[in-house]
Amino acid sequence: MDNFTQIFKEKKLKLTPQRIAVYKYLKSTKEHPSAETIYNALQEEYPTMSLATVYKALKVLVEVNLVQEINVGEGTFRYDGNVEPHPHVHCTNCFRVDDIEGISFSFLNDEIRNHTNYNILSNQVYFYGLCQDCTKEN
Ligand SMILES: [Zn+2]
Ligand SMILES: [Zn+2]
Repeated sequence: MDNFTQIFKEKKLKLTPQRIAVYKYLKSTKEHPSAETIYNALQEEYPTMSLATVYKALKVLVEVNLVQEINVGEGTFRYDGNVEPHPHVHCTNCFRVDDIEGISFSFLNDEIRNHTNYNILSNQVYFYGLCQDCTKEN
């Protein structure tokens, strides 16, 4: 908990129990939950926390770059407590989202700069396919 207090102080964020709960939850999972999943997961411990509060906490956390917003094209955002640039893979059958470890596409930023007039700052790379469980089922 002290660790979170420190991190929030560095980002000059007001320590609210809701923000800490949302951040802590995202740091504890690799499942890239949506706001609704986070809301449901925190219901038991924080029964008075509304979905709107979860959204507000997420917005603030994304703004100070403690949380990454990812969009695999589902119409809702997913959230990631890992803000290091990393690619994701999305199962089109069960909709899980996993990190792809051990490969980064940051080198593409320079490459793309040569193909556009843009000063490229970041990129998001998503891959789509069937996860191991769904492959077995089919
Ligand atoms: Zn799957
Ligand atoms: Zn991730």
